[in-house]
Amino acid sequence: MTQYNKQTLCVHSGTIIDPQDQGANSPIFTSTSFGYLDKETPMYPRYFNTKNQQALAEKISDLENGESALVFSSGMAAITSTLYSFLSQGDHIIFQSALYGGTLNFILKDLNRFGIEYTLVNSTYTEDFEQAIRENTRAIYIETPSNPLLKITNLEELARMAKSNNIFSIIDNTFASPVNQNPIDWWMDIVIHSATKYLNGHSDVTAGAVISTRHEIERIWETARNLGGSLNAQICYLLERSLKTLHIRVKAQNENAIQLAHFLEAHNKVQKVWYPGLKSHIGHETAKKQMNGFGGMLSFEPKNKSIIELQRKLKLIRPAVSLGGIDSTICSPAMTSHKGLTQEEREKQGISDTMLRLSVGIEDPDDLMQDLDQALESL
Ligand SMILES: *Cc1c(COP(=O)(O)O)cnc(C)c1O
Repeated sequence: MTQYNKQTLCVHSGTIIDPQDQGANSPIFTSTSFGYLDKETPMYPRYFNTKNQQALAEKISDLENGESALVFSSGMAAITSTLYSFLSQGDHIIFQSALYGGTLNFILKDLNRFGIEYTLVNSTYTEDFEQAIRENTRAIYIETPSNPLLKITNLEELARMAKSNNIFSIIDNTFASPVNQNPIDWWMDIVIHSATKYLNGHSDVTAGAVISTRHEIERIWETARNLGGSLNAQICYLLERSLKTLHIRVKAQNENAIQLAHFLEAHNKVQKVWYPGLKSHIGHETAKKQMNGFGGMLSFEPKNKSIIELQRKLKLIRPAVSLGGIDSTICSPAMTSHKGLTQEEREKQGISDTMLRLSVGIEDPDDLMQDLDQALESL
């Protein structure tokens, strides 16, 4: 199906044709027990090879311009299964330090226990990643745009550097979504998503995905089926349905976010705004080159420090964790995703305690701006 554009792939790619009645949607196959007499490898959900899993994996793979994909029961299942699939005792891996909290926790708590060494690089510059390479380095792992400062790492530069050093490049592409950024086009090797966020987009599913070449996915599968983070048929179906509207959802979120970013940047009660679509953002030029849209995530710092009160004054935008839903939500990174760090560690990363992160939904932008305005003015 890859001859079609993204918008079309969202709707059609992977769909299981219903031969009985030519129905519009993939049928849901609920079985966990399948016949084996005529099969080389029997179907079993934990083998990632049932029809609903494969339909969903095909759609996600097509959306990321990959050859193949696996779908998981959470983003963390995708991340840990991928990392465990090619890291062994004695290996070294480089991480960008601006990472999703759960990923960082996994690194700090688990990697050393298995004799895996790592370096956290507090930078987005290719040279700084290259300097961290050792003889036993197997991979570089990044997130761009990052949470919550929306820092931008140059994908093409990083991927080329990794290739010339014979190491894997991995990206968690959750914040961008496949609509805004396709890292495989920039030579990155492995793309991971928490499908809990934009891919599903309705705040009612936990899932994950990894996309790469057929060869790499085969290798990740060997480990993934042992770790057991597979997704069941009903949830595969729900996510497949959500993906049909991914393109129009994310497009609407992009358009709303850029309007809100300009609005907040011009607001006299706002100190600073971080959004890759703004000229004032340090990664703007790189984002313009490698992204099709700047995404639905933005952060800002109000001049008034009463951020809890500000959030309570909002009538439409909901103070809540997680992101990527069709409804706009707001949270304080210092009180949620980065709560585990000390204030000093947060400041080192540039995350102030009065910063707020906004996940922009698909509501009318005028309603969102009005809500922010009345809350900011009320303090
Ligand atoms: C939420 C998130 C994850 C983890 O996904 P789960 O589905 O919660 O396991 C990983 N990376 C990023 C960037 C996320 O936002």
